[in-house]
Amino acid sequence: MEADDDFVLDNEAAEIERLDLPAAKESKASNPEEEDERIARIDFQCSGCDMHELVHYFGREPPFALGIKYPEDNYVMRDPFQAPPPRWQAKPEFYIALGAKCSRCSKTVCKDPGCSFYYTATFCLPCGREELKNWPVEAQARLRKQLSAS
Ligand SMILES: [Zn+2]
Ligand SMILES: [Zn+2]
Repeated sequence: MEADDDFVLDNEAAEIERLDLPAAKESKASNPEEEDERIARIDFQCSGCDMHELVHYFGREPPFALGIKYPEDNYVMRDPFQAPPPRWQAKPEFYIALGAKCSRCSKTVCKDPGCSFYYTATFCLPCGREELKNWPVEAQARLRKQLSAS
């Protein structure tokens, strides 16, 4: 009798396991349509300050900012306070370019004047300091001013 009981219990456990599996699979493969672009997944971390955000896009042509083409790769975030436009409507959204990679050392830097300088491309301030002597006087003056302010 005891042996029979054990057998039944074992079977039940196995049965429950079998029933659980498909359910777990289903919840994992949620709606792929929703999967997407509204969720910021790209890690942006400035090497100059403690700015750390998840952004939506890294590159030159953010698909949600129609007609925008940056001269270099940028970390771009959708405006978190704007409702998404309907899919069929080709309308640019508000967006914020948070930063880029230093064109010399490729460290990630934000647009803050304490972290980066833009002259023909983005430079982190340490690299800007090194490159400055090769630049036209006007750009040098601009960076010197920025360096003394920060
Ligand atoms: Zn920064
Ligand atoms: Zn650099």
